[in-house]
Amino acid sequence: MSKNQVLFERAQRTIPGGVNSPVRAFRSVGGTPRFIERAEGAYFWDADGKRYIDYIGSWGPMILGHVHPEVLDAVQRVLANGFSFGAPTEAEIEIAEEICKLVPSIEQVRMVSSGTEATMSALRLARGFTNRSRIIKFEGCYHGHADSLLVKAGSGLLTFGNPTSAGVPADIAKHTTVLEYNNVEQLDEAFRAFGSEIASVIVEPVAGNMNLVRATPEFLNALRERCSEYGAVLIFDEVMCGFRVALGGAQEVYGIKPDLTCLGKVIGGGMPAAAFGGRRDIMAHLAPLGGVYQAGTLSGNPIAVAAGLKTLQLIQRRGFYDDLAKQTRKLVDGLTAAARDAKVPFSADSIGGMFGLYFMDSVPGSFAQIQQGDTRRFNAFFHAMLDAGVYFAPSAFEAGFVSSAHDDAVIDATIDAARGAFASLAA
Ligand SMILES: *Cc1c(COP(=O)(O)O)cnc(C)c1O
Repeated sequence: MSKNQVLFERAQRTIPGGVNSPVRAFRSVGGTPRFIERAEGAYFWDADGKRYIDYIGSWGPMILGHVHPEVLDAVQRVLANGFSFGAPTEAEIEIAEEICKLVPSIEQVRMVSSGTEATMSALRLARGFTNRSRIIKFEGCYHGHADSLLVKAGSGLLTFGNPTSAGVPADIAKHTTVLEYNNVEQLDEAFRAFGSEIASVIVEPVAGNMNLVRATPEFLNALRERCSEYGAVLIFDEVMCGFRVALGGAQEVYGIKPDLTCLGKVIGGGMPAAAFGGRRDIMAHLAPLGGVYQAGTLSGNPIAVAAGLKTLQLIQRRGFYDDLAKQTRKLVDGLTAAARDAKVPFSADSIGGMFGLYFMDSVPGSFAQIQQGDTRRFNAFFHAMLDAGVYFAPSAFEAGFVSSAHDDAVIDATIDAARGAFASLAA
């Protein structure tokens, strides 16, 4: 038996499902999850000593590759000064200044420890600021696991949302309306029906939690206009796409200013750090200035801030995002060509260092379209690649990530492996 299997059996005795976050369990692709021992650059190694090219990058944070020497050094330098103080530090000012500089719609920012906390806190702030309860989210967008956000559409557009998780009271879900991504007509209909009740609209401006789906510019512009018109707070959840699709995030790519932005993943450089921020007049409603309560024992943790700050400094290197986007495009173009040669229906897309692979003929634009992909084929492809030493996300409904450590040799090796994998699917 492989060491991964031994560990998985042991893990399941004391950890529900053997994992601390569900997608790690390989439930949708089947097989045994790989237990990771160490990582470096574009690679990680499992408990059996097998090496993989890593295309999840901890689900986004590892944009510089694993164990980047300068990030390692920054962390090592602060470690001996203490792990956590529960009192403010200068480094927290530095990371706040850096975030406000890189994302100009953010005038003030509050650090938290996870993306879930960032979105939950931003929504409470939006509700406190507007004195309204109702929020709008979009099908296929994930904003962490706060109760108000684990909601799916009701039976009709204007009916109450339903919980997607056991344990979420219907009384909470009913304040959330779920609309179709990229559907401007539905959005207009919702605003016409109850615009003056809407506290906030939250959206992934480049969606990465149903696989990669780009918002259309018309859709994001309509969101901006309707929110301004009705006094609702527009929240861009850039936990995944922030510092990933461009240095200034999706809001830079689309040229749209949200009222609040949620950040995570890259801003912690692999450590638990996230943030939310935006308009100063809205942020002034947060405790201790205002009446919206929000707090955290480990918020702005010095070790996490050191890793995040160094990461934010390194991604400002000239040409960083051009190179990252070029390597990511090279990957998806190579995979698309390999699939075409094997006559496997396939398409792919990328934006910055984020990519989507779809087992269907054209690039999807909504959750409903994503559902039409051939998951059986995806699962076979995933396992063939895994055998060949390439680790893609273990689900057809997740985006992939390239880091600056993914050089030409790494991308070429991936495309070579994919030729074999696609050929085995066609056979
Ligand atoms: C990952 C993610 C979250 C949740 O962040 P956690 O740190 O896992 O709590 C929220 N929103 C988006 C868009 C994400 O990708």
